[in-house]
Amino acid sequence: DNKTQTILSNLGINEVNEAFSTGKTWDSAAEAAIHAIVSPVNGQKIASVKFSTPACYNKVIVKAADAFKQWRTVPAPKRGDVVRQIGDSLRKHKDDLGWLVSYEMGKSLQEGRGEVQEMIDICDFAVGLSRQLYGLTMHSERPQHRMYEQYHPLGIVGIISAFNFPVAVWSWNAMLAWVCGDVCVWKPSEKTPLTAIACQHIVQSVFEANEIPEGVSCLVMGDRAIGELMANDTRVPLVSATGSTRMGKAVSAAVGARLGKSLLELGGNNAIIISEHADLSIALTGAVFGAVGTAGQRCTTTRRLIIHQSIYDTFKQKLAHAYSQLRIGNPLDERNHVGPLIDQDAVEAYLQSIDACKAQGGKFIVEGGLLSGEGYESGCYVKPCVAEVENHFEIVQHETFAPILYLIKYNTLDEAIHLQNSVPQGLSSAIITNHLREAEAFLSASGSDCGIANVNIGTSGAEIGGAFGGEKETGGGRESGSDAWKVYMRRQTNTINYSTNLPLAQGIQFNL
Ligand code: NAD
Repeated sequence: DNKTQTILSNLGINEVNEAFSTGKTWDSAAEAAIHAIVSPVNGQKIASVKFSTPACYNKVIVKAADAFKQWRTVPAPKRGDVVRQIGDSLRKHKDDLGWLVSYEMGKSLQEGRGEVQEMIDICDFAVGLSRQLYGLTMHSERPQHRMYEQYHPLGIVGIISAFNFPVAVWSWNAMLAWVCGDVCVWKPSEKTPLTAIACQHIVQSVFEANEIPEGVSCLVMGDRAIGELMANDTRVPLVSATGSTRMGKAVSAAVGARLGKSLLELGGNNAIIISEHADLSIALTGAVFGAVGTAGQRCTTTRRLIIHQSIYDTFKQKLAHAYSQLRIGNPLDERNHVGPLIDQDAVEAYLQSIDACKAQGGKFIVEGGLLSGEGYESGCYVKPCVAEVENHFEIVQHETFAPILYLIKYNTLDEAIHLQNSVPQGLSSAIITNHLREAEAFLSASGSDCGIANVNIGTSGAEIGGAFGGEKETGGGRESGSDAWKVYMRRQTNTINYSTNLPLAQGIQFNL
């Protein structure tokens, strides 16, 4: 319709889009395959993109390597000023880009806009950071010597992103990498390339106005084949990859084999412990939003509730009632709570997990299923569901990227923490309790083993100011706030002798 066409044209999206961009230049090889991008909202084709060939990828890397030679010499606060302007431009495009995130990926319009807000926030954070890329000074053991450390730009940062946060996760990486003096090559998810094209246009207009060389921001369309080229490419010192644990293991092995650096942000299996000392209304809102928000397709989605046996039945009833109130439908309609899954493959995985859960002994207290009929023509809308399970079930140990919530009962806090930690993943975790001792035990060294541990907040919805990421099969990477910037730079220790002698370290004498 007209609105869609206007927004696409505002964001620079064509009917068929080129396979790669190094900034000003958008190009593709003659043999590039064309892929249609279909919205999970209504099953309509939005636009098409050409996928890059290895030759396209190579052109991009050559251009990026060239651009790095210039970009690394621009003072960091000046690079920060460019990122500040990107933030301003994102503010202007927030509504359009937020809408496209929602239409292409299927999350609610509020969440689509929220994702763009996260991009704006990380720009602001990066601007401040551009004047705070601090190293330390140390006292030398030798007289008239000075010792200090400094952080230098790394080079090309390869960014592989997932469909569920199609633009925010790229910005967490790119904005920090740019103030650090790196250049970025982005391979977005093949499921959500259009929002990536929109971002490249926004960035490019700022870069052009500031006469930044082509190649500082590059975009390469394609599927895992391009990701694999990047992971194996010695010209890319850091690969930041967000997605499934399966993908992370492959990327980590390839990057590790060449002793490159990888930053991995992989799957979660997040739990909320609901204690007998919990405020049940906080618990309910936190659990339901955490489980059904983004149709269960956040890495921090609440997948398990570990509930004290004394309040288990009461809470179960409240939960079933809350689920009966959920409105499932078009995410662009702000009255709806739950939108579609990304595609039919995701629906298939959801249905299979429900079957597996039943086969393994799970008992559904809120039934799932695929929705059909008016408004559900894309075939991607499913019912959020809730099952009573045991933590050790194979299906419970596994991340199904869909709104299936598992309930588990506990007696003692030790047992609850043990259950919470007894999964292969380690991203986000939470406890709802008004009991100080319980909260502190949960946050202690023998508490949650996750990268994120919250008290009286659910598992989903992190702020950009903290370092984001998780342990175990979540990959160990940290992005966004705190000192996450350090991974985008190389550290150098410098010792300067301003004496007229050459005293050696450790008092060694070497007389010629
Ligand atoms: P996915 O693993 O299918 O794809 C992610 C990206 O990796 C895509 O760009 C894809 O093309 C690429 N890719 C796939 N296999 C690859 C390979 N062997 N080598 C190189 N690149 C490869 O994931 P998805 O379905 O897009 O996203 C959902 C997953 O992402 C979930 O597991 C979710 O938990 C996770 N996720 C984690 C975080 C986090 O910060 N921890 C954030 C968002 C999503």
